[in-house]
Amino acid sequence: MRIDLHTHSDRSDGTTSPAELVRHAVERRMDVLAITDHDTTAGWAQATEAALEAGLTLVRGLEVSCKLAGHGVHLLAYLPDPTYEPLAHELERILDGRNARLPATLDKLRDIGIDIEESDVRRIAGDAAAMGRPHVADALVDLGVVEHRGQAFDSYLGSRGPAYVHRYAAPLEAMIGVVAEAGGVSVIAHPWAKRHNFDALDEEGLAALKDLGLSGIEVDHQDHDARTRDTLRGIARNLDLVVTGSSDFHGDGKVDHDIGCNLTDPEEYARLVELARDAARVAGRSTPEVLAP
Ligand code: AMP
Ligand code: ZN
Ligand code: FE
Ligand code: FE
Repeated sequence: MRIDLHTHSDRSDGTTSPAELVRHAVERRMDVLAITDHDTTAGWAQATEAALEAGLTLVRGLEVSCKLAGHGVHLLAYLPDPTYEPLAHELERILDGRNARLPATLDKLRDIGIDIEESDVRRIAGDAAAMGRPHVADALVDLGVVEHRGQAFDSYLGSRGPAYVHRYAAPLEAMIGVVAEAGGVSVIAHPWAKRHNFDALDEEGLAALKDLGLSGIEVDHQDHDARTRDTLRGIARNLDLVVTGSSDFHGDGKVDHDIGCNLTDPEEYARLVELARDAARVAGRSTPEVLAP
């Protein structure tokens, strides 16, 4: 079984439509795929239709922009009911923050002599429900200011860059509870990614999050080197957290992240789905996996 539990479509900052994402997963011989766009479920319907057609199991999820102790943390939420009002409300707040950030970012770029119109970025973003820095990065590529997204982050858009603008993110601890109340399960995405530089996600911190309802951590991710993965796997074992592995695929938007480049063990996947069933039973709401017929 080939299982990839973290991918993006062009409903956020990936470059393939949800249907193309599913078809690409089939080409990559995947059996189970999760669609996890940033802060939106806008890709779910099209991905569901494509998965039924292609004979692939689809896990509907999203990657929620959260903050913990003043640092950004990405929370993968799997199988929550997106109509649960507190979840819908928080996602709306995050998307409002993304929309407000775009003009502020363009003002900062204008200050340093780079002139991009908001309409240009919105055209590049196309069907995206969640506007992001990657779309501004694409506009910088189009202008010939940089060669690729990574360079745009390094020179302008990264947290220390001259065009960085803060935006709203949901409090992580509360969001874990909201996801559970929506009948879903939570997994911390790339907890020790390259730029990780705070203690709140050490073993003690993760134990506290588990007490709040956290189900797992993403261990096998391109931003984790071999040693980091070993250490995180040990922590997951100590805390009885589910271990996931995923590509964090973004189409052409991120190199070296092709679907299936990291996989989730079938037993770990089964545990995660079981925990989601438990959460759904308690919450009285659910979003089941889309099972291939
Ligand atoms: P935003 O969601 O607007 O805050 O932008 C952050 C997103 O940009 C991340 O979730 C990644 O998907 C993407 N990203 C961050 N750093 C890079 C990079 N160096 N190259 C390409 N994409 C990046
Ligand atoms: Zn992204
Ligand atoms: Fe992420
Ligand atoms: Fe991601």
